[in-house]
Amino acid sequence: MIFRKLELAFFLGLALLAGGCMTSKNASAENPKFARLFCWGRPVSEAVAERFAAAGVTDIMTVNRKQYDLARKYGMNAYWGCFTPAGPHRQVMSPEEEKLQAYLAGKDLDRKMPRVERMKILHPRRAEKQHRYGGEPVRDVDVICSDIACFISDEDLALTRKKLDRMLENAPADAAGMFLDFLGYMNLRGCYCEKCLAKYRKYLADKKLQDTSENRTAFYRAKLVEYYNKVIDHIKSRHPNYKIAVHIYPDFRNDHLYGNRTSADYCGQTVSWYFKFDDAKIRKYTGFVLNHAKDHFANAEGLPFIGLSADPASSLGYKTPAEIEHDLRTILSAGGRTVMVCNGHDILKPGYFEVFRKYCGRK
Ligand SMILES: [Zn+2]
Repeated sequence: MIFRKLELAFFLGLALLAGGCMTSKNASAENPKFARLFCWGRPVSEAVAERFAAAGVTDIMTVNRKQYDLARKYGMNAYWGCFTPAGPHRQVMSPEEEKLQAYLAGKDLDRKMPRVERMKILHPRRAEKQHRYGGEPVRDVDVICSDIACFISDEDLALTRKKLDRMLENAPADAAGMFLDFLGYMNLRGCYCEKCLAKYRKYLADKKLQDTSENRTAFYRAKLVEYYNKVIDHIKSRHPNYKIAVHIYPDFRNDHLYGNRTSADYCGQTVSWYFKFDDAKIRKYTGFVLNHAKDHFANAEGLPFIGLSADPASSLGYKTPAEIEHDLRTILSAGGRTVMVCNGHDILKPGYFEVFRKYCGRK
């Protein structure tokens, strides 16, 4: 009888132990955290660097030696600068797109008008046109307000190489790598300058194709991917150890998640823009970004990207800390363990900082 009781106690103990283990395992499975947080902010001062690190930022862009040293001091991977396209001239859009850009960017307004006054006029214009700031568009015509150089016309990459080499002149050999941004089209479709149109006509003739929207998409996507990969190859020819982190931006409207075709090591693709995406879409996009990251390049890693605007008065969307938490939890539940965020500095604002520290903090 005593034996039976001991036996029972032993088994009970085992069951409790097992239960204990399972409980703690379940708890960590229910509360997973991000292993890496890529940030499009900059460690502009010691206090900012310290706070980024406390929020859980692991990878960050720096544009000078002071920022670079601060990022490293606080244990973050420091990337050297952010490259944007070079070309002989600005991209060309359709007359309707040019007109929309002039309106959204306020080209009719007095150049000397203070920025605050200017934005009081521009925010309502942008809201009225459902402008998406280069994110997935909701209207047939949407453009970004910034100009981008026509990189397709940069013959033999002459201007791009020059720009990259200038950036790399002072680049520390042990930097984590480099960021790339704005490798895309101002109208989210393509560039219609004479050189681009001539190349497109040649592409159709060589392949014996008709001018269709599918073929236009294929051509402009191919040119985009080609440019990405040439830029990345050039950086790596100088610094083979550099990792390239990108945010696929602006959106390419006929294939939002084409980023896995690029050879970027860390490819951030939007799964939740500044303007809220619903849960099903965040989950679906995150699944694609993760599951198809290596379709074209074995070493590539897909990063779910979140847009964050903490300013309720801006026409660039707005998310409360609770909404950002919801985004992060949705990505985690879809299997994401790495996340990229812009605007990076909003991570540090009260309410948001605590959310990031909870899901990304290392302690
Ligand atoms: Zn062009």
